[in-house]
Amino acid sequence: MPKEKIMIVEDEEDILELIRYNLEREGYSTICVESGEICLEKTRYFMPDLILLDLMLPGIDGLRVCRIIKNDSKTAHIPVIMVTAKGEEADIITGLEMGADDYLPKPFSPKVLIARIRSVLRRIQGQEQEDAGGVIKRNELTINPGRREVLMKNTALELTFSEFEILYLLARRPGWVYTRNQIVNEIKGSDYPVTERAIDVQIVGLRKKLGTLGKYIETIRGVGYRFKD
Ligand code: CA
Repeated sequence: MPKEKIMIVEDEEDILELIRYNLEREGYSTICVESGEICLEKTRYFMPDLILLDLMLPGIDGLRVCRIIKNDSKTAHIPVIMVTAKGEEADIITGLEMGADDYLPKPFSPKVLIARIRSVLRRIQGQEQEDAGGVIKRNELTINPGRREVLMKNTALELTFSEFEILYLLARRPGWVYTRNQIVNEIKGSDYPVTERAIDVQIVGLRKKLGTLGKYIETIRGVGYRFKD
């Protein structure tokens, strides 16, 4: 079975070559581009299965490229992993809120790179299956959104409205980092205003109720939260 087609967007030739080498060794086919403009042009043509997008690019920068891809209904489904440099935390948050699927800080080892790509591709496939079902099973947790019920082994947990919403959001996509702002937007609609600070408080409460499973809710410093993959 042919492996997925991955577009690498990187203006530094050495890094581009290194990534290409490692991906092809794993059996992926690659499309290498050196600018945001060419990335946008070729994305619609080749429809890659995943885009590895350097944020610091000459011309159109990676964030704008990401926004354009995620706002175009023809390309929005293509997973994007942002490749980021030190000090780009604010850009990471912006990128995730624009729909980027993950990020990879430079410098990274080939091993981490491949693991991240596999994990994003697996998530995308798993998500398609789960969108049909509804009930989520993670480790010893069973989350039933229809009944708004969470079972830990066989014990039902008593969660507040917001705790349930946060857990359901994070657990639907394990490994996926959500910013506080994304979480706020997701659980809005309850009777009281939700702030980013309130999310931290909810997470503390949620972890406590989850007991030993609380460790699955990971804090990503400076960015947000995720359910452990
Ligand atoms: Ca660059």
